[in-house]
Amino acid sequence: MSNFLEKPSLLSKGVYLQLVVDMKLLDDAIIRSNEPEEVLTHHYEALGNRFVIPWRKVKGKLRRLVLEKQRGYNIQPDCALKDDLCLQCPSCLLFGGTGETSSKKMQYNILSRVLGETFISTNTVENIQNYTQNAVGEKDLMTGQALMTILTVPKETVFKGVVTIKDPTKEMVSVIADNLKRLTRIGARSVEWGRVETNIVDYKLSDREDISVYNLLQNQTQQPTQNNLSGFISDLPAVNTAYTTLNNQIPELLKDLIERRSPKKDKKSKTKGEEQETGGE
Ligand SMILES: [Zn+2]
Repeated sequence: MSNFLEKPSLLSKGVYLQLVVDMKLLDDAIIRSNEPEEVLTHHYEALGNRFVIPWRKVKGKLRRLVLEKQRGYNIQPDCALKDDLCLQCPSCLLFGGTGETSSKKMQYNILSRVLGETFISTNTVENIQNYTQNAVGEKDLMTGQALMTILTVPKETVFKGVVTIKDPTKEMVSVIADNLKRLTRIGARSVEWGRVETNIVDYKLSDREDISVYNLLQNQTQQPTQNNLSGFISDLPAVNTAYTTLNNQIPELLKDLIERRSPKKDKKSKTKGEEQETGGE
């Protein structure tokens, strides 16, 4: 039986909280256009053709939301993606970063505690709508210079995903749960398209990552987990308290890291963290 950590730990304690998330499209979303592809289709042997959203895309959005809310509380307000990470705020603690890209050239890296996987549509892809628009030339207002093809994912498509928080404290979960609910747009041109509604529908606290979307979708008859979801959510600290508590725990947490690094004995051991996934508009 796993429990939440009392306070954040740099060394892994092997605890995983998995949040099962439903993301429902309220508008059509663009899947392919002349711009970089954002939501794609993928063929699975067991699941057929599905729409998928890459995790880096969801993570990028989520990180931005966590960061913007943090600024709202005036916690490390200068921490910014991608090259001005402070490496000492709740957002950096959750999503990680490398010292070399930090604004103050910190001597350490932080691994992401928020892990994820591809979001997969709960239904198979039936028909993809294909709009072809004429691009209009700016100078002569003539159409036909270029054809712009847009493929869309129909509204009301539901994507399922699993977001995992490694070695979670209740404060970390509060921050992620609150901001998941604030995730309201996805897709290529999300200014005009791609409104979504994001909800946590289940969770599991365990010593391993044993929930995956792929498996959830294969056994549609979803085996209920242990859980009282609303009790779990309401038991979390309020989000503003959670940010503040995390922020206050960080100096103590990082003290060791900073001290361990300062005697210049260890010659540039670049444990090049994980690759940074801070992108995504
Ligand atoms: Zn930061």
